[in-house]
Amino acid sequence: MKDGFGREINYLRLSVTDLCNLRCKYCMPADGVNKLAHADILSVEEIEGIVRAAASLGITKVRITGGEPLVRRGILEICRRAAAVDGITEVCMTTNATLLREFAVPLREAGVSRLNISLDTLNAERYRELTRGGELADALDGIEAARAAGFGRIKLNAVLIGGENSDADIRALAELTRGGLNVRFIELMPIGETAEWARPRFLPNSAVLKAVPELTECGSDGVARLYRLPDADGTVGLISPVSSHFCPDCNRIRVTADGKLKPCLHSATEINLRGLRGKALTDAIKNAILIKPQRHRIDEGASGSLRNMNAIGG
Ligand code: SAM
Ligand code: SF4
Repeated sequence: MKDGFGREINYLRLSVTDLCNLRCKYCMPADGVNKLAHADILSVEEIEGIVRAAASLGITKVRITGGEPLVRRGILEICRRAAAVDGITEVCMTTNATLLREFAVPLREAGVSRLNISLDTLNAERYRELTRGGELADALDGIEAARAAGFGRIKLNAVLIGGENSDADIRALAELTRGGLNVRFIELMPIGETAEWARPRFLPNSAVLKAVPELTECGSDGVARLYRLPDADGTVGLISPVSSHFCPDCNRIRVTADGKLKPCLHSATEINLRGLRGKALTDAIKNAILIKPQRHRIDEGASGSLRNMNAIGG
């Protein structure tokens, strides 16, 4: 269905947990989050009901996210049920890849068609610092497992932080496109953990073009401007939510693990979906789509959202 500004809303981002096995500095507090009580998290049945109701309103694509979706108990059943809903043509997932060695094959069997993998550096020491203890080798193994399981067009998403990622990091990530992967650089957003961070830590995406000057523009893909290294199979995408907001083309809604629908990533507005069924659930989703704001204002300051990214899912 269309929202109040004529935008077709067909994409649901569904967070299935706010827990994670990593603690990325820009996403989570160092000591993690208070575990939500089991009863406060949407059950597999509730998630299926929300996907069904959303599909009846024109949602065709579902992205499973978190926290880290692969730490959620029942994740395969969630994917299977979402993929089986009439009208859903694509179920994809955003993951840090560290558990993919175990999950890549079962995820494909459960109907997940595409993966976006978050990876900000190929330097093991910097990865450990940024994720507060993660092992780069686990993520790289996971990426290999995903490729071996037949996931095509894998996108690696990297967030750049001024003073942390060096030009060499940017180049090393861009070079992965020679091996057929697609790499996208996404500007760090001032939200949750990063709301009070100093401005120089928010690098504009032009830093990528400065670090890898031989990139040449070759088109666009949704909100990403695409570039290519000479002779590379894959593309480098630049996504700039801060320096050039893309609200006019926004097609998505988000649901948090505790069942709140966020019409806009950067707004504090949340609509409760828990406890609703049938027409009441469909009406709540419909009304949330209708009050989706025209645009966010993070380019004028911090996000209006009161949650950390691990609780929203990106
Ligand atoms: N754990 C999974 C992962 O890391 O891919 C899924 C959840 S994570 C919250 C989703 C995405 O949000 C990641 O790509 C992460 O880099 C991004 N993210 C988290 N905090 C961010 C911030 N302040 N600005 C921009 N992106 C952020
Ligand atoms: Fe976990 Fe993803 Fe947040 Fe990193 S970005 S702490 S992997 S949820």
